[in-house]
Amino acid sequence: MTAPRRVVDGTHVEVAVVGAGQAGLSISWHLTRQGVDHVVLERDTIGHDWLDRRWDAFTLVTPNWQCVLPGFAYDGDDPDGFMRRDEVHAWIGRYAASFDAPVVEGVLVTRLREGAGGGFEVVTDQGTVVADQVVVATGGYHRPVLPAVAARVSDDVVQVHSADYRSPRALPEGGVLVVGSGQSGAQIAEDLHLAGRRVHLALGSAPRCARRYRGRDCIAWLSDMGVYDIPVQAQVGGLTKRESTNHYMTGRDGGRDIDLRTFALEGMQLLGRLTGAEGTALTFSPTAEASLDHADSVMESIKADIDRHIERTGVDAPVEPPYVPVWRPETETTSLDLREAGITSVVWSAGFRSDYSWVQVGVFDGAGHPTHQRGSTTTPGLHFLGLPWLHTWGSGRFEAIARDAAHLADGIAARAGRSPLAEEPVAAG
Ligand SMILES: Cc1cc2nc3c(=O)[nH]c(=O)nc-3n(C[C@H](O)[C@H](O)[C@H](O)COP(=O)(O)OP(=O)(O)OC[C@H]3O[C@@H](n4cnc5c(N)ncnc54)[C@H](O)[C@@H]3O)c2cc1C
Repeated sequence: MTAPRRVVDGTHVEVAVVGAGQAGLSISWHLTRQGVDHVVLERDTIGHDWLDRRWDAFTLVTPNWQCVLPGFAYDGDDPDGFMRRDEVHAWIGRYAASFDAPVVEGVLVTRLREGAGGGFEVVTDQGTVVADQVVVATGGYHRPVLPAVAARVSDDVVQVHSADYRSPRALPEGGVLVVGSGQSGAQIAEDLHLAGRRVHLALGSAPRCARRYRGRDCIAWLSDMGVYDIPVQAQVGGLTKRESTNHYMTGRDGGRDIDLRTFALEGMQLLGRLTGAEGTALTFSPTAEASLDHADSVMESIKADIDRHIERTGVDAPVEPPYVPVWRPETETTSLDLREAGITSVVWSAGFRSDYSWVQVGVFDGAGHPTHQRGSTTTPGLHFLGLPWLHTWGSGRFEAIARDAAHLADGIAARAGRSPLAEEPVAAG
């Protein structure tokens, strides 16, 4: 067994990569191939976010065939299926091992600043690494967001963020209020509902997408239509797309729609947006119906796009009727007492915010987001990779990380004085 790598104070490398998730490993694969001297600094273990910040029943929402990292593609027996949490984690571990990625685990980068004589000082809890270039690959989900109203909820109620939710069993007996109906909130509400828990779901403005339409997974249609190749700047709303909420659907049990109206028929209480809390008394806006209608109308508009594509290309695909809502709220509930309703826990699915407080280089906008062109900032040698919508829809996911990493690697290698290499065939993972 080889000894674990460690940081030696004052070491110089051509490139320091911060973070050993799929993004950090993808750029490391390219740098390894180019012979660029580099290190990947990881505060925990390789790909640990998949294990530590996903619930037990988690599956990918995106199909396995989209899991293509540089030099390493999903090669299991279920390309149209959806890997479970532990399978994703193991797959990423195999990727790192496949090229012996130079990852140093258990080292926290506490500060990044420009060096006095050029390059960067990457200050860690174990010493400073000096680097000519740096790639920040720390993901897009740093700090779980807890709305201010959470502080006003009674201490008798257990509160967890979706990042810390594990399973129905891990919550106290009784009803559960899930706040937020994005991808995580909708799937966690389903997880609790399937386990027989009484679920109350406060809906936000998340859109939804059908899992399958006209004989295929919608993601396969959208991929054929080139939707995932459109740069963020060319999207409706341009860079604001980076703030958009993901469509909810699931990969669970081979993949299916999440139709919250069906859950309501089965006993789930659907509420509007949470507006206030005082102890156990909560208030909601009367917006549940509008939220459901919005989610469905987005789903139907995606289907209409697929219809147009089928018509244009002449593909033979079975026709499907439009969705008909199976339930509508008779009244909007605007107040709820947690104690009276038997609710003992709240799961906050309010998303994440980024935290780059440790990056002391002036490349951020007023909202604290890095400004960049396809990952490269105006400070020469400082790059970001793996951010949601860094370049396209799939930039923060498996779908496009290989493309983004290849683009970034070319720039980094050129700056490091290497010539471009020919493409290499992708090995099975
Ligand atoms: C709930 C959820 C579901 C998702 N589902 C899908 C899906 O179905 N399909 C899909 O393609 N994508 C999905 N994603 C998006 C994406 O694939 C994951 O977020 C993925 O983990 C991003 O990989 P990454 O390498 O960019 O970041 P991460 O996996 O977050 O890796 C970043 C690494 O950086 C390390 N790090 C952070 N700060 C420091 C520091 N200061 N010093 C040292 N190390 C540091 C972290 O420990 C971490 O290991 C999902 C995301 C979430 C949150």
